[in-house]
Amino acid sequence: MSEKMKPGFIMCVCTGKCPGFSKMDIWDFINRVRIELPVEYGFIHPQLCEEDGDRFLADFLKSHRKVIIGGCAPNMQYKMFRDAFAEAGLDIKTDLVPIDVRDMTTDQAVEKVNAALEKMEEAK
Ligand code: SF4
Repeated sequence: MSEKMKPGFIMCVCTGKCPGFSKMDIWDFINRVRIELPVEYGFIHPQLCEEDGDRFLADFLKSHRKVIIGGCAPNMQYKMFRDAFAEAGLDIKTDLVPIDVRDMTTDQAVEKVNAALEKMEEAK
């Protein structure tokens, strides 16, 4: 990936019915991420670990853009998305930045994405 490419941000909302996201306003959160933070774009996916999520990732990862996924625990994300990243020729340990944003308020979740972006910038 080019160092100049900003990462994409995907919020995975676990069907939208997961109580883990009930403390935040999901729409305020994604709008703040896409407008205030240095991401190429941000959007919401309903359930990335389902079969259509695999199909979506197969298309999306063709851009070879680093991606931050906000959703469940990083170790779960690494397990669930391992094949999709491998099939796209990406290294999941460097091209995916998984963050757990469950049980957070909107402000806390935005700050967590911001911290992840700062860490990625430092690692360049
Ligand atoms: S990837 Fe994680 S947050 Fe997304 S639907 Fe699956 S379990 Fe839920």
